[in-house]
Amino acid sequence: MDISYIINELGEEREHYFNAVAPPIIQTSNFVYNKVEDLYKAFQDEMSGYLYSRGLNPTVDILRKKLAALDGAEDCLVFNNGAAATFAAVFANVNAGDHIVCVDKPYSWTQHMCNRILPRFGVTTTYIDGTSIENFERAILPNTSVIYLESPNSWDYKIQDLKAVSELAKSENIVTIIDNSYCSPLYQKPIDFGIDIVMQTATKYINGHSDTLGGILTGSHAMIKKIFDSEYMCIGSGTTPFNAWMMLRGLRTLQARFERITATTQKVLAWVKQHPKVEKVWFPLDESFPQYELAKKQMKGACGLFTIVLKAERMEQIVNFCESLQHLVMAVSWGGYESLALPKCAGIKPEHFKAEKEMHRSVRIYVGLEEADYLIKDIEQALEKMG
Ligand SMILES: *Cc1c(COP(=O)(O)O)cnc(C)c1O
Repeated sequence: MDISYIINELGEEREHYFNAVAPPIIQTSNFVYNKVEDLYKAFQDEMSGYLYSRGLNPTVDILRKKLAALDGAEDCLVFNNGAAATFAAVFANVNAGDHIVCVDKPYSWTQHMCNRILPRFGVTTTYIDGTSIENFERAILPNTSVIYLESPNSWDYKIQDLKAVSELAKSENIVTIIDNSYCSPLYQKPIDFGIDIVMQTATKYINGHSDTLGGILTGSHAMIKKIFDSEYMCIGSGTTPFNAWMMLRGLRTLQARFERITATTQKVLAWVKQHPKVEKVWFPLDESFPQYELAKKQMKGACGLFTIVLKAERMEQIVNFCESLQHLVMAVSWGGYESLALPKCAGIKPEHFKAEKEMHRSVRIYVGLEEADYLIKDIEQALEKMG
């Protein structure tokens, strides 16, 4: 399907709402029925029509159709945020006593779920270095029901061979789930490699304006229905019509923002790489990246998120750099219009800071919609003030 068609037209039935170009926000909790028979049908299968907005809602449905098509998936659910989407995908596919194989250092709240919540239900997790398929083979147990991937992750961008992992999982009847937030469907389509469930946070690139949270699951209709009928309805973590409308609005410019951010990132990256105070950069499509060949094979691009490792002996130098930035702002998240910097040392007790660890000297940079030179000048003056 043509991406222009998906973004501009798919799912929009303008004749149903006065030929308005922009879709309406159907801000309703419930829907009227005239016949008991129809109500009966709706009770049997809440995914068959509009009954109550904790289930389906027409504004949310436009977004669902577009997001499913972007991933090349049969169906989609949109949640209030990415963490809720992950929670529902995993919970729908584990039973008490099951085992999960998960990549090292996944997103913090994914890790919290695996370490703190799932063990209460007897579900255990083995974390592995996902850069080699042998590590997956070794970690799988007879009770493994889910393999959880994040490729690339959002700090050092380690990736997994999606085709190899999905083939292994299929041969063992294991469900594969991937956090595809870094690439978004524009730069990676995990379903094409055989992955079962694609999760992404819509808070980042999809909404794109740092003003709404959202989370997405895509997959086969059977898998999405299984999640809808149980976790989605029960937890009530679906997105609202207003937030869905915001995401539809963000989606209109997704491709244009990606092109712009990708080009700007190349310029900023090339400049920081040659700076004497920058020891190295981590970026999956940089030639220095250890898994560059695999990244090129399964990703179409890498957009605006990369990490720099500063040459510093003291934590104070990294603090100086970050606090001297005038235009890149220090904040979590990414994928919006504004450029960001996030130092790893903000999560480390100062007495535990070790300059010999690259990770401790790393600062994650997100390139937004500003001009490349504007960002380079800002980074340049902040590097000078490092000390
Ligand atoms: C932000 C993020 C999430 C969580 O998404 P929310 O919308 O904040 O709940 C999950 N994975 C990655 C890689 C993220 O960056």
